[in-house]
Amino acid sequence: MLPYTTVVEAETAIGRTLTTSETLWLNHTANKSDYLLYCYNILFLFIIFSLCPLYYVFIEHLFKNTIGAYKIQPKIKLSYGEMLKCYRDVMRMFVLVVGPLQLASYPSIQMIGIRTSLPLPSVYEMVAQLVVYFVVEDYTNYWIHRFLHCKWGYDKIHRVHHEYTAPIGFAAPYAHWAEVLILGIPSALGPAMVPGHMITFWLWIALRQMEAIETHSGYDIPWTPTKFIPFYGGADHHDYHHYVGEQSHSNFASVFTYCDYIYGTDKGYRCQKRLLQQLKEGTKNHEQKSQGSQNASLCQSAGLKSQLRPFAPIFCTGPM
Ligand SMILES: [Zn+2]
Ligand SMILES: [Zn+2]
Repeated sequence: MLPYTTVVEAETAIGRTLTTSETLWLNHTANKSDYLLYCYNILFLFIIFSLCPLYYVFIEHLFKNTIGAYKIQPKIKLSYGEMLKCYRDVMRMFVLVVGPLQLASYPSIQMIGIRTSLPLPSVYEMVAQLVVYFVVEDYTNYWIHRFLHCKWGYDKIHRVHHEYTAPIGFAAPYAHWAEVLILGIPSALGPAMVPGHMITFWLWIALRQMEAIETHSGYDIPWTPTKFIPFYGGADHHDYHHYVGEQSHSNFASVFTYCDYIYGTDKGYRCQKRLLQQLKEGTKNHEQKSQGSQNASLCQSAGLKSQLRPFAPIFCTGPM
């Protein structure tokens, strides 16, 4: 709770006139506990898990012909009933795990030192901290994800998230309860290293989930603003990981592409991209049999085992 309740008290405390956003913040939070403000995350997550995937359902329904060209696995189409089941499962996990985790994790937020006080952080400060949070989460998540693809991790935990081989937005938070808990660690690591304001923390949780929904949307839409973010993986990058599934030793990173590149876990994906590009350019306009042998030779040159799937796009599996 803020140590002041009026604008005059706040201005005296910080030694200057409040900005409009600071006055709004003061008016809204003056009589609210920090715990309650932290719990806003539950509401934000509920809205994001419910509405952001709906955006993709709507554009798919309304602009089928336009948007259809950007569907990554065009032969796979989930019914509305299947989407609803996914959402119901996610909401069950939300009520049983995500919500209680938020309610119980407040002491860690206190320990970290997330503040609710004035002055509010500048846009520069928020952006800089968010960049750190994304980079730290991406790197940590990469290694946890690789661990979850060992036999034990996959069979006991991660298999649930991979039930959707052609992911949809609703499936982004669809995971085993243990995975939900484990992946809370990389999310908290950035804020623990560089503690910020509660608004930055809200933004971090919201943006990370929106990013996850986009990467699971099943659509690689060229005019998505995230295309301008350097080293951003996006839907195409993560969709490949889901398609290959249990055997996947490729594209582990949650947000960016550099970890997979540095540690050599994107060879299969890059091979597939190369093949698709060549097919597009018409340099591989042969029968499927002949495509298979060319595919094999290309991937062998990259040290990869390859497979031409019975439907487009083409995917290659490769060792880490
Ligand atoms: Zn995985
Ligand atoms: Zn996924």
